Amino acid sequence: MAERIKLAAHAGFCFGVKNAVAMARRAAEEARAGGGAVYACGPIIHNAIVIEELAGAGLATVGSLEEVPDGAALVVRSHGEPAAFFARAAEKNLTLVNATCPRVAHIQKLAADAEAAGMQVVIVGDAAHPEVRGIAGWCRDSALFVSTPGEAERLAEGAAGEGGKPLFVVCQTTFDKDRFSEIKSALEAAAGEAVVIVNDTICNATRERQNACKALAQEVDCMVVVGDKSSSNTQKLFEIARKFCPHTIFVEKFDDFPLKEVENCNRIGITAGASTPDRVIKEVFTGMSEFKNEGNELNPMHEFMDEIDKALKLPRNGDIVTGEVIQVTEKDVIVNIGCKKDGIIPRNEVVLEAEQTLPDLFKEGDEVQAKVLKTDDGDGNILLSKKRVIISEHWADINQALEDKQALEVTVTKEVNGGVIAAFHEINGFIPMSQLSDRYVEKADEFVGQTLTVKVMRVDQRRNKVVFSHKAVLNEERQKRMAEIWDTISVGDIINGRVMRFTDYGAFVDIGGIDGLLHISEISWGKLRHPSEVLVIDQEIQVKVLSMNRDKEKISLGYKQNLPEPWSVINEKYFEGQVITGKAVQLKDYGVFVELEPGLDGLVHISEIAFKRVNNISDEIEVGQTITAKILEIDQDRKRISLSIKETLDREEEAAKEAAAEAAAAVEVKDAELEMPDADAPADTQTATDAVETFEAEVAKDPELEMPDADAPADTQTATDAVETFEAEAAKDPELEMPDPDAPADEQTVADAKEAFAEEPPAEA
Ligand code: SF4
Repeated sequence: MAERIKLAAHAGFCFGVKNAVAMARRAAEEARAGGGAVYACGPIIHNAIVIEELAGAGLATVGSLEEVPDGAALVVRSHGEPAAFFARAAEKNLTLVNATCPRVAHIQKLAADAEAAGMQVVIVGDAAHPEVRGIAGWCRDSALFVSTPGEAERLAEGAAGEGGKPLFVVCQTTFDKDRFSEIKSALEAAAGEAVVIVNDTICNATRERQNACKALAQEVDCMVVVGDKSSSNTQKLFEIARKFCPHTIFVEKFDDFPLKEVENCNRIGITAGASTPDRVIKEVFTGMSEFKNEGNELNPMHEFMDEIDKALKLPRNGDIVTGEVIQVTEKDVIVNIGCKKDGIIPRNEVVLEAEQTLPDLFKEGDEVQAKVLKTDDGDGNILLSKKRVIISEHWADINQALEDKQALEVTVTKEVNGGVIAAFHEINGFIPMSQLSDRYVEKADEFVGQTLTVKVMRVDQRRNKVVFSHKAVLNEERQKRMAEIWDTISVGDIINGRVMRFTDYGAFVDIGGIDGLLHISEISWGKLRHPSEVLVIDQEIQVKVLSMNRDKEKISLGYKQNLPEPWSVINEKYFEGQVITGKAVQLKDYGVFVELEPGLDGLVHISEIAFKRVNNISDEIEVGQTITAKILEIDQDRKRISLSIKETLDREEEAAKEAAAEAAAAVEVKDAELEMPDADAPADTQTATDAVETFEAEVAKDPELEMPDADAPADTQTATDAVETFEAEAAKDPELEMPDPDAPADEQTVADAKEAFAEEPPAEA
């Protein structure tokens, strides 16, 4: 017969009690070491065994504050005390060791604030319980108490009738949660228009202990509740257990255990109150298992010990624990992680999408993994982080990707010096500029917002650093495409491509993910200075695979091969005697080359340019000029085409033109001879020389004229000339008279000239 004894997931000391006992023990030991005593007003916890142990350590339990000697040390119990208690302790100059559970202290503050705000505080719980009395003592003893739905209903009706103060409801930490729900419903139903603010202040430790008890009680033949019978929370556990398992036994310690009662039970569950020390639970567990295991190999004792140890042990910081969600609020998630304290995951330790809430993500009963941040968050819970687990998982993904050389998807979030930041979930990595692409990247900001597939280059998890490379992925993809291309194409194939970029020596063409080189000489049968003369960027073209070098990963392409080589089809298009039109592409001393079409040039020999003699071809033709010529000969063997321009001309017409041109030229020459100045003389001098020559010619005709003084100043010279001219004229015409110096401006010129002449030195002949 298989047997099993199982300990409830939550049993024994809660955080508050454990903390209070530890503080009391420490205070007692210190007091004893100093020869004094430390006091407690009433039992620190409701467990006689523990009180006895503490008494042995030096803790004196007294009935009231007045029994504590002035100036002594006093431990405040985990239940807490009213405000008046602290005031009196101060009067007695007591040194307080305040072991009030933080959760109880929180309720005291809620109540005090509500009372100060004019609300009516209602405490759901046992009015005689020290914790409830303590809470009431923080709202000037004005609180009302309820412990049943009926009382709640009456209280709420009264409040509704008065139409007065809002009801502010708190609850004893160890109150039964189902009963509290009923009371809450009754209050809200009966309150009518009255405002009711309900605070569920039942401690998670209690709630979990009760839930665990209820769950276990439903699956066993017998439940054992271990704890002091004066402990209200242990009594409540007993009630819950008995409700779901009629065979429930309440024991304070193993010595009390009625072993006979479990003799025939196959499955036994054990739970314990918040004030029951671990040691007592272990004794019950061990003693019972020894009793049940006589001759039973299927249930060795060490298994029980492992189980109880596991249940009582706390995880360590950094541990990843698995638990069950037992409560979800907007602020946090409470998780049962199978030990005596609950785990709590605050909202900021969960990765939430925009607008997402904790209830969207978690439901009671869900299994959840979390990382232990602190074994005590200050409220007695184990502080957990779901986010850190996810981050740890993502680091694991990154490490795995590095190891397996796998790609990850990241989102580029911002540009930084030398590259960009790229996020893999919550982990920020760096992509250097050189690793952003397999092409040159000038500005990294174009990548911001993009999702990139990357390889992990380096990881330093301890320093939160990871370096990604998108280029590595592109290179790998390129390699794959290359492999496919190598396998699917062959030299001579005609394939589709897209012109990607130009260089001086050709164009790069994407042929399905990799680029092949289209050399400039393979673009056209004719000569090109730049690929852009034929192609444009992004142009879709068909190219011929000319060569493939797998080792060097190079593919050479040809574009001109889409058209037949001109000489191969020359007979289809050209014949001797045909008049063609082409473009002068090159001038030589012996003739001009004319392009009939790309790759097909003919030569017009210098003697075939015109009927006249041509000495300098550039006098007749310039590069780029459209030429009409006759094909004289097509030499296919030597790939030469002889052309003649003059054969397309009319000889007589040309002769006439020539004659006219010669005549015009002669006229020009004559004119030029007449007026040819001394090209080397300075401009001024030249003019003067001309003038002298003209003068001398005149002198030859008229000896009376004299040479002017070449050294005279310009103005004077002009005046002299004028006077001389005048006198010469006068000699020819005696009627001419000297002008009147007083004459008007028109005539003054002559007078001025005369005067000027008079002042002139005698001219030398
Ligand atoms: S049951 Fe909760 S509130 Fe009460 S002492 Fe324990 S931890 Fe504190």
